[in-house]
Amino acid sequence: MILKNLRLWGRGEPVDIIVDEGKIAFVGQVQEEGEDFGGRAVFPGFVEVHCHLDKTLSPGVDGLENQSGTLLEAIERWRGSKTKRTKEDYKARARAAIRQAISRGTTHLRSHLDMDTPKGLEVLEAMLELRAEFAGRIDLEFVALGVPGTPEGDALMEQALEMGIDVVGGAPHLTPDPVACMKSALDLAERYHRPVDLHMDEHEDPRRLDLETLAEMVRARGLQGRVTSAHNCSLTFQTLETQRRVIEKVAEAGIHTVSLPAVNLVLQGNGHPPARGLMPIKALREAGVNVALGSDNVRDPFQPLGNYDLLWQANLAVHAARLTRPEERVAALEMITHAPAKILGLRGYGLEVGCVADLVILDALTADEALAQVAPRLRVYKAGRLVYKQEVVQSWL
Ligand SMILES: [Zn+2]
Repeated sequence: MILKNLRLWGRGEPVDIIVDEGKIAFVGQVQEEGEDFGGRAVFPGFVEVHCHLDKTLSPGVDGLENQSGTLLEAIERWRGSKTKRTKEDYKARARAAIRQAISRGTTHLRSHLDMDTPKGLEVLEAMLELRAEFAGRIDLEFVALGVPGTPEGDALMEQALEMGIDVVGGAPHLTPDPVACMKSALDLAERYHRPVDLHMDEHEDPRRLDLETLAEMVRARGLQGRVTSAHNCSLTFQTLETQRRVIEKVAEAGIHTVSLPAVNLVLQGNGHPPARGLMPIKALREAGVNVALGSDNVRDPFQPLGNYDLLWQANLAVHAARLTRPEERVAALEMITHAPAKILGLRGYGLEVGCVADLVILDALTADEALAQVAPRLRVYKAGRLVYKQEVVQSWL
């Protein structure tokens, strides 16, 4: 397959790309014919590192409309609904969500799945079936969002791990004993040789901050590079001195971080004085911490809108975290590509010769234009196979 006249992200003149056996085989000028893209931008496939396929696309029916707009009400409303839903309902909503993600250029997706009740195991079974259904179109992996640190919680986590769930998860701040929760999550990860991905400090109470303890534990156990910490909202509400100290420990522990702008701009920080719940993206990046962006909740009690569009998420982060300098706008795009690829441990990710041909071609000539316009995705390729196509027809009347 020959793709002609494409502008590789971050490089100058348009080039042609030859894809062979699912990989990028050549980048340069070729004589042979191929589809001509008129100098449009090509990126490596976007990488969704944090979403919730089990909760998704469940708009305001069944009493799921969140009236207070808080995280706690969202959890309560979801808790009342989730055990009543059928496996087929879970599958139908997740399938629609995965299709949305593919149509926005996502080629890898990690989803958390609630694992705090036995229902979670049935949902996991549904998601593993979807993984097989979508094989060759998008790579799916799943995190057990359970309650490690209690006997019942650990037992459920172990069952999910035995069934083949990929990653150990949890939300320590929502458990009675966050330290026990973190300890147990790390124990399970070591025992089953799996990575860890925790929801951390998703609140605005400066008196509570588990991230520092997590960083100390991860460093002491030598688990650098294997632990991801998402949200980290309360870090924003610390004094600058505390923030610097904790960020340094996070960097030393090699903890990956994920910011979920759309959700944290809605759920957190609506008190007085008004503040926003986004983790300090700039300070974390400046300290050398790997920062990725994710969609998190999409059209559920936690977040009424959203769309699985990581390019939109990057655009949102530029505004919400003031990533306005040229190198920061590039960073916003790295946060939906190379940074999450590092968290998932993807091999052969990128636009170099020899990389897997997971590609997204945008209706934009430059990276800035792509970011500003949240430009249409014209083609999405998974390992060289065309999995999504969009024709843009504009008429000026
Ligand atoms: Zn989440």
